[in-house]
Amino acid sequence: MAKVWFVGAGPGDPELITLKAQKLIAQADAILYAGSLVSQAATQWARPACVIQDSKGMTLAEITDWLIAQSVAEATVIRLQTGDPSLYGALIEMVQPLDQAGIEVGVVPGVTSAMASAACAVESLTLPEMTQTVIFSRVEGRTPMPEGESLEELGRHHCTLCLYLSITLLQKVRTGLLAAGWQDDARIVVVHKASWPEEQQIIRGTLATIKEQCKQAGINAQAMIIVSPALGARQWPEIKKSKLYDAQFSHRFRKASQIQE
Ligand code: SAH
Repeated sequence: MAKVWFVGAGPGDPELITLKAQKLIAQADAILYAGSLVSQAATQWARPACVIQDSKGMTLAEITDWLIAQSVAEATVIRLQTGDPSLYGALIEMVQPLDQAGIEVGVVPGVTSAMASAACAVESLTLPEMTQTVIFSRVEGRTPMPEGESLEELGRHHCTLCLYLSITLLQKVRTGLLAAGWQDDARIVVVHKASWPEEQQIIRGTLATIKEQCKQAGINAQAMIIVSPALGARQWPEIKKSKLYDAQFSHRFRKASQIQE
């Protein structure tokens, strides 16, 4: 029976695709990739006979029609998507027509751009006693935000926020976070094309400065915004250490050192 796989291609660097994705690509009969974002290198493992198409310019209905049309006999069909398919990837909208057509579906996760951005900036999204929570979100643009998910509300947690699809809305990021109680000198990092070897750019600034910095750098797409009380911790003279490696803290694999009082 044919199967359609929604495969996360990762953030851009072809080496950040999973082994599972690579194996599936190598056996695929048809691959539809999201041209504007997924590095074409991700298709480099496909068989010569594999039908490969860029979905740039296709509507959702055209995409699902294509996937259904390719799902003949025992075909392995891949929808190759940027980052991870479960984040801002229209996954359910594509799965539903396949369910209706009785076609089997599978998903292969990918490295999402928030993680690739943290990696290339050498930032930890969690830091003991600073923040232990990460929110993946976006700022309201044409897509309305559900109730309770405005930046003003999410920002009140003062945890790490990774904002997708919002690079053209930096003014809204600032006003939302100021309304949530953040200061104008709060640190913010923008990573453009994280993990793209030649094009990756890291811009560090504050809520007050970042918009102008991104304008100067010409960044207006494919960028991740990270705001977090943990940003820049690499340079701090002192940080609270993780309990996991604390000699006085037992866990499943190690007993605490016996300290004589
Ligand atoms: N499913 C994707 C997100 C798709 S939405 C994922 O998991 O990453 C597209 C948004 O993702 C862009 O607006 C940008 O915010 C972010 N993005 C995608 N690739 C990126 C990259 N290489 N570097 C930084 N941000 C990226």
